Parts: sequence; C-alpha cells; structure tokens
Amino acid sequence: MLFAGIGEDGQERLLASRVAVVGCGAIGAAAAGLLVRAGVGCVRILDRDFVEPSNLQRQTLFDESDAAQSLPKAVAAERKLKAINADVAVEGVLADLGPQNIEELLTGFDLILDGTDNFETRHLVNDFAVKSSRPWIYAAAVASYGLTFAVRPGLTACLACLLETGNGSGLEQTCDTIGVLGPVVNLIASLEVAEALKLLAGREEALNGRLISCDVWTGHFQSVRVARNPDCRACARREFIYLEGDAQPHITMCGRDSVQIHERGRSLDLQALQKRLAPVVSGIRCNEFLLRFLSPPYEMTVFADGRAILKGTRDPAIARSLYARYVGA
Ligand SMILES: [Zn+2]
Repeated sequence: MLFAGIGEDGQERLLASRVAVVGCGAIGAAAAGLLVRAGVGCVRILDRDFVEPSNLQRQTLFDESDAAQSLPKAVAAERKLKAINADVAVEGVLADLGPQNIEELLTGFDLILDGTDNFETRHLVNDFAVKSSRPWIYAAAVASYGLTFAVRPGLTACLACLLETGNGSGLEQTCDTIGVLGPVVNLIASLEVAEALKLLAGREEALNGRLISCDVWTGHFQSVRVARNPDCRACARREFIYLEGDAQPHITMCGRDSVQIHERGRSLDLQALQKRLAPVVSGIRCNEFLLRFLSPPYEMTVFADGRAILKGTRDPAIARSLYARYVGA
C-alpha cells in the first residue's frame, strides 16, 4: 500500500483478484509465493508432478520432507502457501492440464501465470486465453537463460504470434537435459509477477509490453517489442488447434529418460493396487496421492486418476507394456 504504484485501492484490487498458476516447478513455485505474499485474494496452483530431491536446488517452495514424502507439488505448495498467508484462498489441484479439463480448471480467473515446463501446455493455455480474452503471462527458463512476456489478447501479440513464425525461442532444450540455475528462475518469476501485479491492480499503463529475456551467466539482458502477426493462427484466424482435443498423445516424454502415460477417466484404488503389487515389485511406497515402485531398471509412479510416470526409458512401447502389466490394460 505504501508503494505509490499500488496504493490502497490497488491493494484492494489485488485482494479481489483470482489467479491461476499452471505448473508448480521452479518458476511456478516462486511466482505463487510472491502472489500469496502480495495478498492476491485467490491463487489456484495446478501441477501434475511430485516433489523430488533434485527439485530442491531451484524450487524454493519445497523442502526435504516434501521430497521424502513424495508429496504432489500441488499439495506441498498449498500447505506452504497457506502457512505464509492464511488470508489467501490457496487451492492446489493435482491435475494434468489438457484440452478436456482446461475449461473446468481455468475458467473464472482474472489472470493465468505460466509455470509449466513444456510448449504443448503453453500453447494450450494461449489458445484458451485468446479464445476467452483473458490475459496470461508466458515465462520460461533453461540453463542460465529465461524470458517472459505478458499476453493480453486483442492488445498484444500472443504466444502463437511469437513462436509460430519460425524464429524459435531457443528453449527447445529442457531443464531435465541441460539443467537450470536457481537465480534465473527466480528472476523470471519476479518479472512475471511484477507484470501480474500491475494487471491485477488495474495499472495497465505500467505494463512494459515487451518480451524480456536475460541470461544471468553472461549478463546479457534484452527487451524487445513484439508485433502482432496479422495472420496469427490463434489471435487472428482463431484456430484453436490445441483446445480441440487430440493434440495430446497418450504417451509423452517428460524429462530426461521418463515418459508419462496419460490415462483419464480412470480412477484407481491405490491401496488395493499396493496390496496386489507388493509381492511382485520392490521398493513399493504409497501415500494418499500416489503409489511408487521399482521394477528394475524402471521406476513407476501411479496417480489416483490412472496417470503414470515411468522413469528409466523413453520408449513408449515399454511404457505401454509395463503399465498394462502392473496397472491394467
Ligand atoms: Zn497471435
């Protein structure tokens, strides 16, 4: 309230705002923390993954006990954020955002923040935001480099203007293959949330309107104006191909040496599955959200909605066969 850019009325607007954070990895966790501390009234965090020890180097909301318990990030984040500011309605949702559930999960929010780690989901969010005329803020980082851009449908370029014109983002590599430095994700999350606060407080005139990129290793910072593409697939031709369903295949790569098996509309009794698998697998562990076991050289994590992450391979055929063997065809 003391800061002139926000003031008392700006703070009241923040209090009345609803923000969804898609993905709670490094950028998402840092952004969610800043939003909750700023007193944004309602923050929903969507994430499909669980906390692992290797996340702790950069994912500032989590700690060793979250990793030891294999807590879903959505659950661990909700607990931490509620402890930080009990007056904010924080809602962690363990879900794999896709065309089939995006309406249900993202409708009714004033702003969507990018905390995801893949372009499939970013394009899906962009399609949804452009179609429903909601702002969203793109943010990404790998290695020592990151960038962010606030998309305001109808007013600015959208993600498709930016990426579907053939000048790639340079972010095709993922954190799982080349790593990412903690400082760059926190820097990008800070820039993202600064734009978010301007939007939510009704200070649109303060938005920078630029694609900002920075490399904390080389010290190279850049800010460029991005023109709308008059023939943009999403914001001009309104062809929302990512919303239209089968853009997402059944099995997708997720990180180095792992695949995700998407299985929806299936609800698993994890306790029963644990009992059934205990004699045939090793290292079996279960909490109320997920079941994990080893079948060397693989490690499989199964969620209550039937989704599974298989570590140790990038081969969809192996994933399909192990899933059929242990969870069911
Ligand atoms: Zn566009």
